[in-house]
Amino acid sequence: MIVVMKRDATEVHLDALVARLEGRGCRAHISKGEEHTIVGVIGDVRALDREQIERMAGVERTMSVLRPFKLAGRAFQPEDTVVDVNGVKIGGDCVVVMAGPCAVESRKQVLETAHAVKEAGARILRGGAFKPRSSPYSFQGLGEEGLKILAEAREQTGLPIVTEVMDPQLVPLVATYTDILQIGARSMQNYALLHAVGEIHKPVLLKRGMMSTIEELLMAAEYILSHDNEDVLLCERGIRTFEPYTRNTLDLSAVPLLQQLSHLPVIVDPSHGTGKWELVAPLSRAAVAAGADGLIIEVHPRPEEALSDGAQSLKPKRFAELMHTIDPIAAAIGKSL
Ligand code: PEP
Ligand code: MN
Repeated sequence: MIVVMKRDATEVHLDALVARLEGRGCRAHISKGEEHTIVGVIGDVRALDREQIERMAGVERTMSVLRPFKLAGRAFQPEDTVVDVNGVKIGGDCVVVMAGPCAVESRKQVLETAHAVKEAGARILRGGAFKPRSSPYSFQGLGEEGLKILAEAREQTGLPIVTEVMDPQLVPLVATYTDILQIGARSMQNYALLHAVGEIHKPVLLKRGMMSTIEELLMAAEYILSHDNEDVLLCERGIRTFEPYTRNTLDLSAVPLLQQLSHLPVIVDPSHGTGKWELVAPLSRAAVAAGADGLIIEVHPRPEEALSDGAQSLKPKRFAELMHTIDPIAAAIGKSL
C-alpha cells in the first residue's frame, strides 16, 4: 500500500503516520517528490485500518500496490534514482560508459586498458578478479591480487571501478577495493549474496540472469533494497533464446520497460548480450537510443590473447571510435556522455 500525503502536509503529520504504521508492525519508505510526499508501506498491511489512515491529518489518499516489487517500483518512488559513484552520477541526464577487460589478467593489461578507455571518455573501469566460468578448468581470475591491480588503476586514472563478487563471504573484502559491486547473471538469484550486498553501503550493478524475466530481475533488486542498500543499477546483458548466432539475445525492450516499472537506472551490456565484437558498436548505439542510463563494454588491448571473452572484446581504438558515434545519439534524446 502507498499513502499519498497532501501538498501542505507537515513533518508532524508525516511523523504521526510513520508512528502509526510502525506501531502496527509495518515499515515506512518515504519518498519526497516535488509535488507530494509518498509513503510506501512495507509489511503485512492487513493489520492496518485504511479508512482510519485516510482520516489522519496530512493524508490525501491511500492506494494498493499490485506489483510484487515495492521498493524497486515507480509507485513507491516516482522520481528516478540517481546513483552517485565517487561523483559519477548514474541515472540522470548522462549516459555513463563503463569499460575494461572481462578479466584482470595482469597489471600491464589493466593499466594499459584503463588509460585507453579513460582517454576515450569512459567514466568507470570494469574488470573481473573473481570470474564465474562455465568450466572449472578455465581461468578463474586473480582474486585479491586482481582487486589490488584494479585499485592501482583507479589511483592512476581516477576512474571508479566495478568488479564482480560471487561469494557472500567475500563481499566485505571486495567492497574494500571496489566502488561498485557487480552481481553476475549466474548469481542474480543467489539470495545469500543479494542479502550480503544489501548490507553494504556501496552501489550494486545487478545483472539480469540469462533465464530470468524482468519481474525476477526486479524481485532480485528488491532483496538488495529491502536490506537497506538503495543504490542498485539494473543491467540487461542478454537472455538465452533459440538463436545460436549470438551468445545471448540482447533484450533492448527491457530498457524502456524497466524504466517504466522502476526508478532504478538501467545499464546495457552489449558485450555479453551478443558475444561478438562486431555487434557491440551497433547495439551500444541502439541501447543509447532506447534510453539506457549507461553501458558496460569489454575492452582488451589484444583480444586474441584474452583469457576470457576475447571474441566479444573491442580493441581500444574501436572503443574510442564507438564513443564518438554514440555522442550524437545521446544528444538526440537529450542526454550527454
Ligand atoms: C562479466 O561481466 O564479465 C560477466 C561474467 O557477465 P555476466 O554475469 O553477465 O555473464
Ligand atoms: Mn566477460
